[in-house]
Amino acid sequence: IPAKTASFIDVEEKHGAHNYHPLPVVLSKGKGAKVWDVEGKEYFDFLSGYSAVNQGHCHPKIINALTEQAQQLTLTSRAFHSDKMAGYTQYITSYFGYDKVLPMNTGVEAVETALKLARKWGYEVKGVEPGLAKIITVEGNFHGRTINVISFSTDDTARSGFGPFVSGYVTIPYNDTEALERAVQDPNVVALLVEPIQGEAGVYVPDHGYLASSYQICKANNVLFIADEIQTGLARTGKMLACDHEGVRADILILGKALSGGVLPISAVLADDEVMLCIKAGEHGSTYGGNPLACAVAIAALEVLKEENLADRAEKLGQLFRSELEKLNHKYIKQVRGKGLLNAVVINHPNPDAAQDLCIELMKNGMLAKPTHGDKIRFAPPLVISETELLEAIDIIKKSLTVL
Ligand code: PLP
Repeated sequence: IPAKTASFIDVEEKHGAHNYHPLPVVLSKGKGAKVWDVEGKEYFDFLSGYSAVNQGHCHPKIINALTEQAQQLTLTSRAFHSDKMAGYTQYITSYFGYDKVLPMNTGVEAVETALKLARKWGYEVKGVEPGLAKIITVEGNFHGRTINVISFSTDDTARSGFGPFVSGYVTIPYNDTEALERAVQDPNVVALLVEPIQGEAGVYVPDHGYLASSYQICKANNVLFIADEIQTGLARTGKMLACDHEGVRADILILGKALSGGVLPISAVLADDEVMLCIKAGEHGSTYGGNPLACAVAIAALEVLKEENLADRAEKLGQLFRSELEKLNHKYIKQVRGKGLLNAVVINHPNPDAAQDLCIELMKNGMLAKPTHGDKIRFAPPLVISETELLEAIDIIKKSLTVL
């Protein structure tokens, strides 16, 4: 590790909590699909801030919206209206076709919001007895890190040592509509919370038809279908939303990450009036949620997705990426999977650290990616990556695989 890099890492290790285990690289600049470290070395970014940077690093239009608005007004709180909130609520609801939006900041806050909405709807509209509402979640889920959300995680590392947990959740296997059919028979069930593709679980893609069938089962049983599209949404999988692949319109749609293009923490919950108006003044909120700076940035970030046809690009380049990796027929690659530019390879190697070793080699060769759940490596570049750049990146992968 070069001296400058090592000194940044030492200081951070000493003063920062150890809740992450980053690759030994210290970044100081980004543009488009590339980032640079403090030594001046260039990398393709194949993590994109866990799919927050779909529009590319420091997208000029988004940065322009940020700097213009930063000089006008940045925070009012929701105690007062801001001139930006009106336009933003109108823009995002018509963009996704919902009656209302509830703005939050981080992804997990939007998940919490969706869960609160579902419970409130359950009591006020569905007529569940007070305190009895249940929400169905699935095995292998990742929805964030709060105590409530890890209460229904099935990942031991995420939960262990953090109890007691919140009750009111039922867990069923992912990609299993029969289990869902059984679970919704309980009249206290108010919602299903699901990721259209499980990102953190290692880009686990359910069978085609799973989302549409699950939605129908929910509909038939008066249960809300909540789609957590924080990682899969906003053009990442080759459509604006991953649910669009199956023509499903969630009752509650959760967005985050790329809603700001990686510029600010901005999340949102979208729903129609029957659900959204269950929460009244004083019952939920956030100091920064819907701040004018976020409103300006989110509009620009959403505009970029359409103006630059990023969904189509993700679809086309994703097919190229998967077919090039499959062509390798590499003995240590068990599977290449994904949709659009949300992909992963599953490594099958006698050395359990092979995925980590490969990521270190990729880094040396100019590409940043991170293993997830031991044997899987996610490949999710900014969607603005060009075909030439993608092919260069694939060459880096080919070259790096020789380390295994
Ligand atoms: N939901 C999904 C599907 C995610 O992938 C993530 C983050 O990776 C979250 C929720 C949590 O978002 P945040 O880290 O912004 O709280």
